[in-house]
Amino acid sequence: VHIWIHDTLPSDPARFVADHVAFTRSQIAHFGTFPTQEYHFFYLFPDRDVRHGVEHEDSTVIALGPANRVQSEEGYLEIIGIASHELYHAWNVKRIRPIEWTPYDFTGPCPSELGYIAEGVTTYMGDLFLYKSGIVDLKGWCALMTSLLERHLNNPGRHNMSVAASSYDTWLDGYKMGVRGRKGSIYVEGAVLAFLCDARIMELTAGKASLSTAMRLLWERHGQPREGLTADMYWDTLAEVAGDRMDDLRNQHAEGTEDTWTPLVQAMSAQGISLSKRLDDAGTIRVLLHQEN
Ligand SMILES: [Zn+2]
Repeated sequence: VHIWIHDTLPSDPARFVADHVAFTRSQIAHFGTFPTQEYHFFYLFPDRDVRHGVEHEDSTVIALGPANRVQSEEGYLEIIGIASHELYHAWNVKRIRPIEWTPYDFTGPCPSELGYIAEGVTTYMGDLFLYKSGIVDLKGWCALMTSLLERHLNNPGRHNMSVAASSYDTWLDGYKMGVRGRKGSIYVEGAVLAFLCDARIMELTAGKASLSTAMRLLWERHGQPREGLTADMYWDTLAEVAGDRMDDLRNQHAEGTEDTWTPLVQAMSAQGISLSKRLDDAGTIRVLLHQEN
């Protein structure tokens, strides 16, 4: 793994390298094998406002600025979070890939309903690997989940259009959200769904398996041979690992628009974390995650 930086250096380069080693080792351990011989993180840290990350097969390009953001503790964790997300894409998306994009047809539209796997699972796992590799503690992971859940709960679009249908639409209107509140986000709503799946598998298997177990199987069966992934392949593999079908999650929260609050409270509780919410003065939903004793 190589790290290339243009412009501003993070305040502690040794820690920056050590954290890359930590989340990279942790992800490789969970998948069993790494898809390429070499992997390169290309960083652009210009002194202007920017936030971007894009995955390639054996590299990623990440931009963040301005300089004072890069050198702050918050900005540092933001960069490491993006980096962990983009590395996860080396398996999920670049190899475990929706069938509509295998191979990618650049001559015409190729929308897919599987953005909740491509970006949702990656967003959830990118953050989870910060915890698994010890870069953040449980409190730090709860802070990441709090921010995710607040974005989820405050988007009325999740009740209007399922994350699968929103994914199909995302091909058309890209990363701009289109009409406010019309649809869900494959990143946010997809990551919340990934958490519900992860918690369900851990519950059904008494912690012996998790969503990572399923992703490793998907990598071995469909990613390494570069066969396209279908929704049925994904949900069948989750069921195989869990020992039970999870069609309620698929029907209600991937392909449906049911409210996630009750399942979220139950899933957090099973992990020993209490979840509550309140409205602030501006009418925004605020989330509180608290570790139970
Ligand atoms: Zn991504």
